[in-house]
Amino acid sequence: MKVFKFGGASVKDANAVRNVSDILSLFDGEKITVVVSAMGKTTNKLEEVVNASANRDRKMYMALVDDLYDFHIKLLGELFLEKHYAIYNLIDDIFEKLRDRYSETFSDNYSFEYDQIVSLGEVISSHILAAFLFEKGHSAGWADARKLIRTNNLYQEGNVDWAKTEELINTRFLPAFKEFDIQVTQGFIGHTPEGFTTTLGREGSDYTAGIFAHCTNAESVTIWKDVPGMLNADPKWFDNTIKLDSISFKEAIELSYYGASVIHPKTIKPLQNKGIPLYVKSFINPQAEGTTIQASTAKDHLIPSFIFKMDQVLFSFTTKDFSFIVEENLSDIFNRLSSINAKINLMQNSALDFSILLDRSKVNPENIIELFKDSYTVKYNEGLELVTIRHYDQETLDRVTDNKDILLEQKTRQTARLVMKDKG
Ligand code: ASP
Repeated sequence: MKVFKFGGASVKDANAVRNVSDILSLFDGEKITVVVSAMGKTTNKLEEVVNASANRDRKMYMALVDDLYDFHIKLLGELFLEKHYAIYNLIDDIFEKLRDRYSETFSDNYSFEYDQIVSLGEVISSHILAAFLFEKGHSAGWADARKLIRTNNLYQEGNVDWAKTEELINTRFLPAFKEFDIQVTQGFIGHTPEGFTTTLGREGSDYTAGIFAHCTNAESVTIWKDVPGMLNADPKWFDNTIKLDSISFKEAIELSYYGASVIHPKTIKPLQNKGIPLYVKSFINPQAEGTTIQASTAKDHLIPSFIFKMDQVLFSFTTKDFSFIVEENLSDIFNRLSSINAKINLMQNSALDFSILLDRSKVNPENIIELFKDSYTVKYNEGLELVTIRHYDQETLDRVTDNKDILLEQKTRQTARLVMKDKG
């Protein structure tokens, strides 16, 4: 069995949904699990619905739900010309329940409410896709990931109970392949032992594909994207990007750790454990090669990769009495940072100071100063960029540092990391 994952962009409108059907026709007769995301920007919109509910803004809530309803009904109109099809009722029911939900009290647990509402994007898209595939003559059924993927009660960031999930997938999902060649299910969502819906974290549909593949011992996973494969840099920041033909699981984990955003970071591990290859391919050009992620590290060094993080702020902490930064200070600094959930992009220490790099969008420098002022002097520098180069050489270093002042530099044999700002 193969696992295919189609993200929001690959089902963003009627033509995109038709394209998914065409891609599946290329694999006629094969057993395929299709993991699908919410359509287009539906998840962002549903997040606004949750916020409207939290703010008890009924007007806003209903307006946002109406927008989403219109978007999906228009799409149905383009895909299914016969209005009596069951799919219309199915989608109507989901939206009716969503409208009714406003009147139920919004509990204190924001994350719980979030998951009950935001998960609906995937439920809707999977119903539409399954109905359309069936209509096009595919042997396709629908499967409810909310009954298959078991998580703990950590809403918005559910942790998978692997043993239970494997049992549920084996007993409730796999047998249906006797009836269908294709089973369409939802990315991003699961359920708690009590049966409430959870989500696995934003962009979590890739991870769902990894979970299904791991639990079914699938032959491969393919993530269909609007890019030709994994590129060696984000084209937003870099000209002349190159496609990586083949990289190892290890390299893919490193790249996503440093911030490459092509694959959700949790996706690789369940595949690596079972040696299941992951293909990243273009849904625009499905016959093209794409990128293969597999066990061999032989080709990792062939092409340098560049990962950019913009809008960084570099903080440095010195003790007020100018004593050395020792382990005790470090543990104190980390405790304070973890109390505000700070995610450190890079760190470095010297005898007298300790520096960390954070995303400016996630911290207010004044708050950091306040948090540390009893024991440390804090200085900061903003408007910086962090560049990570995997498999760097002098030429790649020269290329990224052209016209930049370097504030901090770290190198291992394979990875160079530079904190820089434009030459002033
Ligand atoms: N729909 C969810 C999101 O946009 C999950 C996903 O697409 O991976 O974050």
